[in-house]
Amino acid sequence: MYTIKSYVFPETLEEADELLQRDARTSVILGGSCWLKLGRRRIARAIDLTRLGLDQIEVKDGCLELGACVTLHQLETHPAVTSRFDGILGNCVSHIVGVPFRNCATVGGSVFSRFGFSDLTCALLALDATVVLYRGGEVPLEAFMASPIAFNDILLKVRIKDDGRRAAYQSVRRSTTDFPTLAAAVSCLDGQWTVSVGARPARAVRCERAAACLNEGKGAAAAGQAAAGELTYGTDLRAGADYRKKLAAVLVRRAAEQCMEENKG
Ligand SMILES: Cc1cc2nc3c(=O)[nH]c(=O)nc-3n(C[C@H](O)[C@H](O)[C@H](O)COP(=O)(O)OP(=O)(O)OC[C@H]3O[C@@H](n4cnc5c(N)ncnc54)[C@H](O)[C@@H]3O)c2cc1C
Repeated sequence: MYTIKSYVFPETLEEADELLQRDARTSVILGGSCWLKLGRRRIARAIDLTRLGLDQIEVKDGCLELGACVTLHQLETHPAVTSRFDGILGNCVSHIVGVPFRNCATVGGSVFSRFGFSDLTCALLALDATVVLYRGGEVPLEAFMASPIAFNDILLKVRIKDDGRRAAYQSVRRSTTDFPTLAAAVSCLDGQWTVSVGARPARAVRCERAAACLNEGKGAAAAGQAAAGELTYGTDLRAGADYRKKLAAVLVRRAAEQCMEENKG
């Protein structure tokens, strides 16, 4: 459990940024606090973003925009999200703990943290998403995922081009609500594929060779094999590296097959 000395509700983004910059080492931006509260931490200033209108889901300028304070459960229920990309964003979070938890955990907290096990970042990578930061501006999620975490910026929203692409997500868990042992996501737009693999257990990354297999019509099984060979896999308490490698071949194949089926429909 953490302790908080001062809890503030900034009324503007400028004020939130100014409070954070005063001392980014001891100030903390709050998402739903689901992860933060597991730690033992003394927080000098907790900055609550809930008065800044960041809880909106909008279709704007040709993009689906997810505000940082949007909850994971909203991704499962909001028609603008469930009706797009074959519902991948709702599907990918549906195994995370339970609905009351997903009513608290936010898009901002999930994406900013860049957890290796993150279901959401794996799916967003396959959708070519970008993140919008207060200081850093709009950055491709792929670059953001590869960068170290700096606690001096605020994630404002995630943007995804509303381009009608098809998409599918697959994960394996040791039990229903456990962290994923491995996860894979694919998307397809006009015959061009994007593939990502997460919970390796390192952070999710794109698989260019697997995508090339699909672009060249070599089939889902070949793409799975490419993903297994292309990426590095590690060992932790959930699985060994070899098992994860095998899972990658299976999950990428299944996701690609699912997406091909959706494309037929
Ligand atoms: C028991 C448990 C099981 C979980 N299982 C899974 C799982 O299976 N799959 C999965 O993908 N995830 C899982 N998660 C992670 C969860 O889905 C959330 O990603 C996590 O709780 C963080 O979201 P939050 O909104 O609670 O963030 P918080 O806990 O509030 O914040 C997390 C971090 O992000 C920072 N932050 C929050 N919002 C912003 C912002 N807008 N800008 C800048 N920094 C920000 C905070 O300062 C903090 O450092 C699990 C978490 C828990 C506690």
